[in-house]
Amino acid sequence: MAVQPIRLFGDPILRTPAQEVVDFDKELRRLVADLTETMRDAPGSGLAAPQIGVSLRVFTWWVDDELGHLCNPSLDLSEETQDGEEGCLSIPELAFDTRRAQRVVARGFDMHGEPVTIEGSDLLARAIQHETDHLDGVLFIDRLDAQTRKEAMKAIREAEWFGEPAPTVKLSPHSISAKWL
Ligand code: ZN
Repeated sequence: MAVQPIRLFGDPILRTPAQEVVDFDKELRRLVADLTETMRDAPGSGLAAPQIGVSLRVFTWWVDDELGHLCNPSLDLSEETQDGEEGCLSIPELAFDTRRAQRVVARGFDMHGEPVTIEGSDLLARAIQHETDHLDGVLFIDRLDAQTRKEAMKAIREAEWFGEPAPTVKLSPHSISAKWL
């Protein structure tokens, strides 16, 4: 297991739809371990494989002190929505109000290839939606209304990290909270 550098906005892998997991092998288990360790180190509440440079449909979460992972997710979203601040470890230090479904039922597989169903609400539901978006090459800023997205893009262009070659992301202590995904 090793902490991996987190890819940042501008890296094309973040815009590339990830491949389905086919082999539930030792390599996949190592990927889940790396994702978990990198997420806890950041720290973040979720992390998707493309964020550490692996284009596979796998993500992890760390919400309410519970660690989990899911491969090849498919989601059923509630009609009820939630509003709240959301941030992304690949877009450090910027957070914006982002509307998400309040509850989600996620079906997929664990790292051993066993089918699993995860039901979540609030932050877990937000994390699952955010990470599943990553697997489709979608970022949370794509979910913002036009005006907020414009502000986000301006903040990104002005950010110190923008254009840097994949540094290891470390959030400053004041910005640590549950919203980093
Ligand atoms: Zn993210």
